[in-house]
Amino acid sequence: MELDLGHVEDRESFSFKEGFTLPSHDGGENECRATVVADVTRAGSRYLLEAKIGCDLRTECSRCMNLFDYKVNTDLKIVFQRGEKVDLPDEEDENDFVFFPQADTFLYDIFPRVREAILLELPIKYLCREDCAGLCAACGADLNSGECGCGKNEGDPRWAVLNSLREETENRKDPQKREE
Ligand SMILES: [Zn+2]
Ligand SMILES: [Zn+2]
Repeated sequence: MELDLGHVEDRESFSFKEGFTLPSHDGGENECRATVVADVTRAGSRYLLEAKIGCDLRTECSRCMNLFDYKVNTDLKIVFQRGEKVDLPDEEDENDFVFFPQADTFLYDIFPRVREAILLELPIKYLCREDCAGLCAACGADLNSGECGCGKNEGDPRWAVLNSLREETENRKDPQKREE
């Protein structure tokens, strides 16, 4: 995902497709396929990159264990500035800026930034769908394909929805919550 900014006159688009892996929750790896479309707009010695990132991450549902593609859509913004690093005004985020002190190198590999942007979007739990019914605790059958019939499971899909709501409430960290 290397950009050659030396060629950019006013505005240029770059697009990349890349396959890579990200660490999975169980210590293994998830296969990812990312598409990045980046527009670079130049204003003098400053180049603004705005990219749309789409990624399919092949992973296992935390509830029913089926493999599915978890979709990530996110954005990336980087400002490239030719010249030595300068102090930025308060409203600018230093992490958005990349300085190129030497005039002859103007290549930049955005892959690490893309990977980081995707990582920030990943959930604590992957669910194939919000109301995934999961597996029967007794016989292990996938309850998404109907009742298992083992007789040890309530078999009522409404319980699954309630359970999933409870799980989500338990998992949710509430930053607004204050100690009384
Ligand atoms: Zn599932
Ligand atoms: Zn069962």
